[in-house]
Amino acid sequence: MKLRNIAIIAHVDHGKTTLVDAMLRQSGSVRENQRVDERVMDSGDIERERGITILAKATSVVWKDTRINIVDTPGHADFGGEVERILNMVDGVVLLVDSAEGPMPQTKFVVGKALKVGLRPIVAINKIDRPDARADEVVNEVFDLFAALDATDEQLDFPILYGSGRDGWMSHDPSGPKELGLAPLFDLILEHVPEPKIEEGPFRMIGTILEANNFLGRIVTGRVLSGSAKPNQTIKVLSQDGTVLETGRISKILAFRGLERQPIDEAVAGDIVAIAGLSKGSVADSFVDPSVNTPLKAQPIDPPTVTMS
Ligand code: GDP
Repeated sequence: MKLRNIAIIAHVDHGKTTLVDAMLRQSGSVRENQRVDERVMDSGDIERERGITILAKATSVVWKDTRINIVDTPGHADFGGEVERILNMVDGVVLLVDSAEGPMPQTKFVVGKALKVGLRPIVAINKIDRPDARADEVVNEVFDLFAALDATDEQLDFPILYGSGRDGWMSHDPSGPKELGLAPLFDLILEHVPEPKIEEGPFRMIGTILEANNFLGRIVTGRVLSGSAKPNQTIKVLSQDGTVLETGRISKILAFRGLERQPIDEAVAGDIVAIAGLSKGSVADSFVDPSVNTPLKAQPIDPPTVTMS
């Protein structure tokens, strides 16, 4: 199956959770009666309390013949390096901006990071149902923001959708949809976001998100850069300086399927997967075939951050 890896970025409350919920429902990835609520994209308090990095969650939907992995990014400036690492894992972003509020501080922060890692955002002017919506002005403000953040010409030439995540539609037409639904958003993602670049060589993945699970232990999520891996396969964990931290076996490989994370029998290049079974290895470490001795280049790790209230 073809793949696209994207992140949805937005200032808090501009409608990320609501939009992802609608994407899951309209792509048939969750049953009508299944509760989506905060579980989809919000990180849990328990993990936060335990001081484990779980600042991002992922989900996926299938549209036509393509699986779209959708990764959440923290909008908060305390997580600068984290945001950059996550954005390095995707090939495109959908920037949601409230049609009345316009760009806000977290919009600026995440857009700056997205532009810096070379992504070409799709801009979605959201909550167009608001009586105080001012879509045209907000588009201009977004353009000015991109320009102020040194966007390239390609990045400035962003496609724009207008819509209401709450009402479940996005359209190229600011005056409203010809047809209700999110098809224009899904189609634009397939068209505008490049396929994941796959490198030659044996299995290599860089750890991007670390979490702990009661049953599976340590789980590391990342994007597979090259090769493939299966459960029970032996892999090596390299730190950024090339030290071998561990050689061990993968117990399970999980992928994001709608709301659930399901075991899969192979991690393939280009996909974003979670690997369990290793006791060391963390964010920014490389998870590689034992024949590989060179670590992958990672974003530097931030100093520990204070727990958000
Ligand atoms: P997040 O913080 O970006 O994940 O935002 P949420 O999806 O939680 O939405 C924040 C608030 O905006 C909630 O009260 C939503 O009901 C509301 N909201 C989300 N999408 C829309 C929309 O399209 N139109 C309007 N009017 N409100 C929306």
